[in-house]
This record gives sequence, C-alpha cells and structure tokens, in this order.
Amino acid sequence: MVRREIRRLGPPVIASYDVFESKIIFGGIMYDWLVVGAGFAGATLAERLASQRGERVLVVDRRPHIGGNAFDVANADGLLIHQYGPHIFHTNSDMIVDYLSQFTEWRPYEHRVLASVDGQLVPIPINLTTINKLYGLSLTEEEVPAWLAARAEPVEVIKTSEDVVVSVVGRELYEKFFRGYTRKQWGLDPSQLDKSVTARVPTRTNTDDRYFGDSFQAMPKEGYTKMFERMLDHPNIELRTGVEFKDVTDGYRNLIFTGPIDEYFEFQHGKLPYRSLRFEHVTLDQEWHQPVAVVNYPQDQDYTRITEYKYLTGQEHAKTALTYEYPSAEGDPYYPIPRDENYQQFKKYEALANAQDKVWFVGRLATYRYYNMDQIVGQALATFRRIDERLERPAAAAE
Ligand SMILES: Cc1cc2nc3c(=O)[nH]c(=O)nc-3n(C[C@H](O)[C@H](O)[C@H](O)COP(=O)(O)OP(=O)(O)OC[C@H]3O[C@@H](n4cnc5c(N)ncnc54)[C@H](O)[C@@H]3O)c2cc1C
Repeated sequence: MVRREIRRLGPPVIASYDVFESKIIFGGIMYDWLVVGAGFAGATLAERLASQRGERVLVVDRRPHIGGNAFDVANADGLLIHQYGPHIFHTNSDMIVDYLSQFTEWRPYEHRVLASVDGQLVPIPINLTTINKLYGLSLTEEEVPAWLAARAEPVEVIKTSEDVVVSVVGRELYEKFFRGYTRKQWGLDPSQLDKSVTARVPTRTNTDDRYFGDSFQAMPKEGYTKMFERMLDHPNIELRTGVEFKDVTDGYRNLIFTGPIDEYFEFQHGKLPYRSLRFEHVTLDQEWHQPVAVVNYPQDQDYTRITEYKYLTGQEHAKTALTYEYPSAEGDPYYPIPRDENYQQFKKYEALANAQDKVWFVGRLATYRYYNMDQIVGQALATFRRIDERLERPAAAAE
C-alpha cells in the first residue's frame, strides 16, 4: 500500500489517501464533488463549481489526458493533431463563446469539405459548383431549385435517412454522396437508419462552400488541450488522469458523471449500441496534401474521410499531418446509433438516472446523444444553473 498526500487544496486541509491495488481510498469526505470525465462536460462543470461556488472538486478521467474527444497534441514532428478526429468549433450562441473565451483566444476558421465523387473533388454540402462540375452544366443560382425539384422523389411519410435525402435531391445524388458514406459510417443502409441521422440535407443554390452556417466559426488559438488546461487550473480543482470511476470508492458528497450511462448502471438493461472509429494518423514529408481541411470518400476506400490539420491550426511547417478515419463496430463509443429501439433502451437507463439523488448525468455518453461541443458546453452550463438553484452554496462561497 502506498500513502500519498494531496497538497493542492491548501491549508488547513492536507488530505491523504491510500492507493491499494489501484483503488483510491480516502479517509473521509475530502471533496464536495467528484467529476468523472475531463471532456467539455466535466471540465465546464468542474470549473463552474470550483470558481462560482468555491467547492472542492476532484476530476478523474480514465484516459491519460484531459480534453475528452477534443484532445489535441503535438505529434513527433511538432504538428498539432486531434487524436480523436477533427474537431471544428462552431456555434450560434454568444453566451457559449463568452464562457469559453475566458480560457482561450480564437483563430478565425471557416470549414470547407470536398467529396471525391466520380473521380472529381466537389463541394459538400451540394451547391451550384457541385452540380455544374459533376454534370458539366452551367446552371445559374436561379435555375438550381427547379433542377433539384425535377430530381427529388416525393416521399409520403419521411421515416428513414434515405427518405430525407431522396425527397430533397433525388436518387442519383443520394447514391453518389450519401448511400455509400452512410453505409461505411454506420454499417447500416440509410433505409435502416432513423431520419434524425440526416435531419436536414443542406443544399445551396449559390456557390457558398462553407460547411457550417453558424455565426461563430473559429478554433482555439493554441488548441483545445491548452484551453482545457486553463479551465481546470483552479486551486479548488484536483485532477487525476488515468483513473477509473470505479476505483474512487469514497471521499466525495456529490457526483457529476459524464461517462457511458449503461456502464454506470452495470449494463442492467443491456449494452447501448455505439459506432466506433479507428484513426490512422500519418505525417507526410511534403507541405500540403489536399486542397481543403477535409475530403470525404463516399464512393470508394474503406476510410470515410481524410483530414489535413494545418488548415485548422494555421501552423506553418514543411511537413503535413493527416488523419484517416475508418468506421468500426468495435472500439471506443463515439456515435450512438440512432434507431428507435436503442432510444427506448436508453430511456430505461434515463429512468434509473432520474431516480438518483446527488448524481448528475451530463455529456454525450451519459445522455446517449450525438452533440456538438458547443451543445455540450450549453448542457453543462444549464446543469450548473440547476445545481446552483437546488443546493445551498457552502458558507465560504456565499459570503
Ligand atoms: C470523430 C468525431 C468528430 C467530432 N467532431 C466535432 C466537431 O467538428 N465539432 C463539434 O462541435 N463536435 C464534434 N464532435 C463531438 C464532440 O466530440 C463532443 O461534443 C464532445 O467531445 C463531448 O464532450 P463530453 O465531455 O460529453 O464527452 P467526452 O469528450 O467523450 O468526455 C468524456 C470523458 O469521460 C471519460 N470517462 C468515461 N467513462 C469514464 C469512467 N468510468 N471513469 C473515468 N473516466 C471516464 C472519457 O475517457 C472521456 O475523456 C465530434 C465527435 C467525434 C466522435
């Protein structure tokens, strides 16, 4: 058994805990909160609880780093890469931008994606350039709606992902851009997937080739991990990476859990289905590889897309870093599979979660939904407001 001391809490509390067979055992309540997960959900809540309520927070993450899926790191050549695939920040919420701006400056960046279709690279979402290039046409902006309408197939009740796309752009563009990509991405045909997967097919009649339409599109200037370091750098926050939730047996009053909800309840209603990804990170000894940050491969190849990071980071370097994404059934949980039966299974876990006192379930894994980063920050800030309304502030913070 090894006895270790935590000194960061400052006088008069010098906590000590025992590490025994990798379990962390405290000799009493040392923390007001245990936060499981150091991604956007966990870091936002830890930061708010520590800075606004003056509470003592222990943050643990089973990974050896902070940032969750948004973690970025310099590779062996000093090129900043996103270990879990490209993360592009975009939002329409000033409140969320203001909150995160306390911890980072921003580098303006508008995301552009091309798709490799019929041997050409064309903009996605489909726009005027896509149609003209692919079909050798010279349509004008005014002519595009009629061109698409002539191809769209009426679908009486839109139920599946296939219905959504075919009803807007027709079967041919559906086959070229969506069917193969979706089959690779989900391991299922679009006709087997809920309409929410492709809730909307953004098509543009003009030549606007920006991937997102949000009012704020930018990347953290020094990367996500630096931003997370600043969020968690507070005297009331103790951070321990490489630690499993189940190995923290006591020592806290309340719990924020941002891990998988089915795991928390020991899979008593079965394992919630997820789609995973394998990332292949590559460095090329050349300055640039492709004309934009992301190229999608809807028709061929086993990977779905290639990302070239220098477009996102603005780094100047003689080499370039890429990530190839290979969808897979096995591996870390990334995308909840949006089918009604899976949602019903989640509802059973949600009912268990609602019956818990002193435990808050926050983030993409605990709520079994695909959320963008800004939505997770919004969810975490809303949870903080609820906590702050419900629980009395500690005396020191209330003064
Ligand atoms: C490939 C990919 C690309 C994406 N691209 C974008 C994008 O471009 N823009 C965008 O806005 N969003 C994007 N997202 C979504 C984004 O990743 C999420 O919104 C965000 O990471 C969610 O944050 P979170 O804190 O809920 O979860 P996470 O970031 O997953 O953090 C949860 C943390 O909890 C830890 N944990 C779980 N269980 C335990 C346990 N039992 N014990 C200890 N630790 C535990 C995990 O290790 C993890 O670090 C993308 C997602 C994926 C998969």
